[in-house]
Amino acid sequence: SSFTRVDRLLSSMGYGARKDIARLARSGGIVFDQAEILDASVRIPVSADLPRRMTVAGSSLDPLAGLVVMMNKPSGVTCSHKEAGELVYDRLPARWRRRKPAISTIGRLDKQTSGLLLLTDDGDLLHRISSPRSRLRKTYRVTLARPLDGTETALFASGRLTLRGDDKPLAPAVLDIISETEALITVTEGRYHQVRRMFAATGNFVEALRRERLGDLCLHENLAPGRWNLLSEEETALVF
Ligand code: URA
Repeated sequence: SSFTRVDRLLSSMGYGARKDIARLARSGGIVFDQAEILDASVRIPVSADLPRRMTVAGSSLDPLAGLVVMMNKPSGVTCSHKEAGELVYDRLPARWRRRKPAISTIGRLDKQTSGLLLLTDDGDLLHRISSPRSRLRKTYRVTLARPLDGTETALFASGRLTLRGDDKPLAPAVLDIISETEALITVTEGRYHQVRRMFAATGNFVEALRRERLGDLCLHENLAPGRWNLLSEEETALVF
C-alpha cells in the first residue's frame, strides 16, 4: 500500500481544506487504529481497510477512491452536475461533491426515467462501461399508454428500425411482453431517448420507464427510490 498525508487524503475526499483538517486533528477528531492523529501532516498507509481503521469526527472514513454506487434513481431527478432542480448527486452525502476525482454517473437516464443508475469516480470504469463498443445490455421495464399491437417484438428484433432524425438503424433489441401495456425491453445502444422513441415509432407512448438491469447486474430489490448502495467488486464485474 502507498502512504499519503492525512490532510491531503481527507481534503481530496471532501472533508475540508488542509487547514480545517489540521484543526480537526489537533482537537482529536481523527483516529487511526484507536489512536488520535494530532498532526495531520503525518503519512498513513492507504489500503482497502482504511475506512474500517479510521474515524473522522466520530464516523468511519468515507469510501476511498475507486467507488461504484448503485442508486435507484427516482423519476423527476436529473443526471447532471449543473442543471436547475433536483440532481442525482444531491442524494449522496454533500461532502462527496468535493471529492477528487469527482463522482459522475455512468451514462444517463432521462429526468423522468427511474431505476438502476451507477455512479463512479473511476475514469477507466466509466469509459469501459459507457463506450458504445461495450454493447452493454440495458433492460428497462416499460409501461405503455396503449396496448401493444403485436408487431413490436419482430420490429425491434429486426435491426431495421431507423428512428426519426437518425441515419443508422437500431441494433436488434429484445422485447419480453408482460401484459398488454407492460414489457421488458433490452437494448445495447444508448441513443437519445431511445426507448421512448422506439415505442413512439410504433404509435405508442411510454408512460413510465424504469431501468432494472445493466449486463447481469440487477437493481437491488430492497433499494427504495432515491436510496443507494456501494457495490462490491464482484457486483461491478457483473456489468461486463
Ligand atoms: N431510453 C429512454 O428513452 N430514456 C432513458 O432514460 C433510457 C433509455
